[in-house]
Amino acid sequence: MARVLVGVKRVIDYAVKIRVKPDKSGVVTDGVKHSMNPFDEIAVEEAVRMKEKKLASEVIAVSCGPAQSQETLRTALAMGADRAIHVEVVGAEYETMQPIHVAKILAKLSKDEKADIVIVGKQAIDDDSNQTAQMTAALLDWPQGTFASKVEKTDAGLTITREIDGGLETIKTKVPAVISADLRLNEPRYATLPNIMKAKKKTLKKMTAKDLGVDLAPRIKIVSVEDPPVRQAGSIVPDVDTLISKLKEGGHV
Ligand code: AMP
Repeated sequence: MARVLVGVKRVIDYAVKIRVKPDKSGVVTDGVKHSMNPFDEIAVEEAVRMKEKKLASEVIAVSCGPAQSQETLRTALAMGADRAIHVEVVGAEYETMQPIHVAKILAKLSKDEKADIVIVGKQAIDDDSNQTAQMTAALLDWPQGTFASKVEKTDAGLTITREIDGGLETIKTKVPAVISADLRLNEPRYATLPNIMKAKKKTLKKMTAKDLGVDLAPRIKIVSVEDPPVRQAGSIVPDVDTLISKLKEGGHV
């Protein structure tokens, strides 16, 4: 039976209004509500369902980040993951951590833990990179099924339905494989209070990137983070003729 490794990232909660730091080096994170990346909730749910269907033997949740990432891991445990690994990355190193680093960590842990399936979210809603699944698959030389909206385990491997621009694509892969979860893959469950209590007793192992031999030196330099331009107010025109002349005036037609 498959062992599933799931990547869960702690990100600024999707409902929070993002504020850019005055020096444009990033966004304000202090005192801001954080939660598990929404696509990672879907990834955890899928892994837990595999276990419930007896297609997986164990679900391991992994998070790379500061101490608070353990809260995210506890949520994954409360949703049904069996154990967790916290790869602690703090301070400046965390600020410059990029998908390549996370991919190297996930790839190394997949080998160490003898995982057969890695499931991550299709993208982290803070950096919107959409790179970790692809890089992890490349580093492991495993097949990948990204943007999955349906995953079925067959004797030969996995049948994955992918959400692509023009519609849906169905692919078959062998196992081991890397999957990235899209929005419609499932509806993640809420962690119930009894399960939150139970999760406190589950194993959470702490490690560092160094323990895994992963160098966290940044490959990309963020030059500047800026707010999107403020939208100009619209105006209401009385009739089509005025609309057309206004469009002409603005050089739009
Ligand atoms: P990204 O490539 O940054 O858009 O992230 C895609 C997915 O990779 C996320 O949805 C997570 O499942 C996983 N991931 C990214 N960063 C981390 C992290 N720091 N810790 C654990 N998993 C992560």
